Amino acid sequence: MKITIIFPGRNLETAKATASVMPLAPCLLAALTPDEHEVSLVDMFFGDQVDYESDVDVAAITVRTPLAPIAYGIAGNFLQRGKKVVLGGPHVFAFPEEAKRHASAVAIGESEELWPQILKDIKENDLKQFYVCGPYAVQNLRGTVHHIAQRPSLEKPAMMRRDLLPRGRYMMDSIFTTRGCPNHCRFCPVTDIFGARIRHRPIGQVVAEICSLGPRYYNFDDSVFGHPQIADRPEENRYYLDLYGELARVRPKRQWVGAGGLSALDYKDGRRILELAAESGLCSIAAGLESISAEGQKQSGAWRKLHYTSPDSFDLRKMTQNVRTIQSLGIEVWGFFVVGWDDDTAETYRRTLDFCDECGITPFIFTLTPMPGSQVYQEYLEQGRIFSDRPWDRYGTGSVVYRHPTMSEQEMFERNAEVMIEGYSAGRILKRAMQAFRNRPSLDVAMTSLFTQLGLRKAYRQLYQQEQKSCAA
Ligand code: SF4
Repeated sequence: MKITIIFPGRNLETAKATASVMPLAPCLLAALTPDEHEVSLVDMFFGDQVDYESDVDVAAITVRTPLAPIAYGIAGNFLQRGKKVVLGGPHVFAFPEEAKRHASAVAIGESEELWPQILKDIKENDLKQFYVCGPYAVQNLRGTVHHIAQRPSLEKPAMMRRDLLPRGRYMMDSIFTTRGCPNHCRFCPVTDIFGARIRHRPIGQVVAEICSLGPRYYNFDDSVFGHPQIADRPEENRYYLDLYGELARVRPKRQWVGAGGLSALDYKDGRRILELAAESGLCSIAAGLESISAEGQKQSGAWRKLHYTSPDSFDLRKMTQNVRTIQSLGIEVWGFFVVGWDDDTAETYRRTLDFCDECGITPFIFTLTPMPGSQVYQEYLEQGRIFSDRPWDRYGTGSVVYRHPTMSEQEMFERNAEVMIEGYSAGRILKRAMQAFRNRPSLDVAMTSLFTQLGLRKAYRQLYQQEQKSCAA
């Protein structure tokens, strides 16, 4: 069969500036496609066009909430032409029945076992409506279901089909080494999607794959330093110590970026894990710090991943110290913050930017988006706080989609736009790039910092301008 795997995007300059990382999910799905089939990839973020007139048999489409309308539109075009359409991704996890209205089949959960099964069933003309992997309430699904209760082991090698995309257009390759997150942050569906238990890929496999990558890559793990709740398990720490120990010896050394918490500094071996990660080329860490207040930590549930015993023990000075220690190892800190918890005020946006300036953090300050599948979405929905007239394409794009107890929608939007535009002023960008150079005297690292920040500056300016226009329309 001929299969096209589509990663929907808006093909805007904004998206191009931010999506400079090769997408992982379509490359993995292509790798899992048995050799008997012919497979092609379409990354719409980079302007690839969907060819509806081609002779493909199956279209597999990733559905993420802000792009759900686009994904459904593509699906409808293929269905009209008599093609099979399979939808997967985080949005279908939350809304499988909605996705079903636009698909021949919906895949819920990880693809390792599901995708070969789906292709087999299409070939044998026995396609079910839902394919589910993991402990999911399948009894609530209306339709035929193929259910695999166990999440897949990550032991089997599946070398991503990066060769199907023009590599030169991405600033970074992408990879993953583990899946799962025990933190259950209230605004994030990842623990439900991938489970609370961490599964690891074999180190040898990861190292071999990294040796095949270009000079930079993004590690898509939820935490590249492990998780505080399980850091007392020696085998957990061993994995990261061994992985980064081996990667530190790889030549030529790659620069890499990943997501991880500051809490690693608090647990046994954490400091050594960080040092080895830095030696292996980690140059920037995307740290979900989430809030500068104890109340924000409590409402987001982020205090667990930051390794506080309770939200009340949150201490901003400790956060500052941890940021500085990580920076002193030559790792830039990108701080992700959510503003819009019930106790936040318009001033919180400004205070969060001030905190970033004080610590030399690259700011990612966003108004809360209650993402479908998260606890916050469900609670706000039950409380009637989700704006029911907002289409999915207003989620995660700077728009406000829920009612805050004290701030108006416009106030939140304007304050957010203000700090994100100010946070990327030429002076601030230069200061942070120079700080990166001081902490790690490498021209290459400083240039990566500079160009990444310039890309983000352009992206945020366009994002907020576009959003302003669509609000006015
Ligand atoms: S925000 Fe990060 S730490 Fe929290 S549940 Fe999601 S992936 Fe895990």
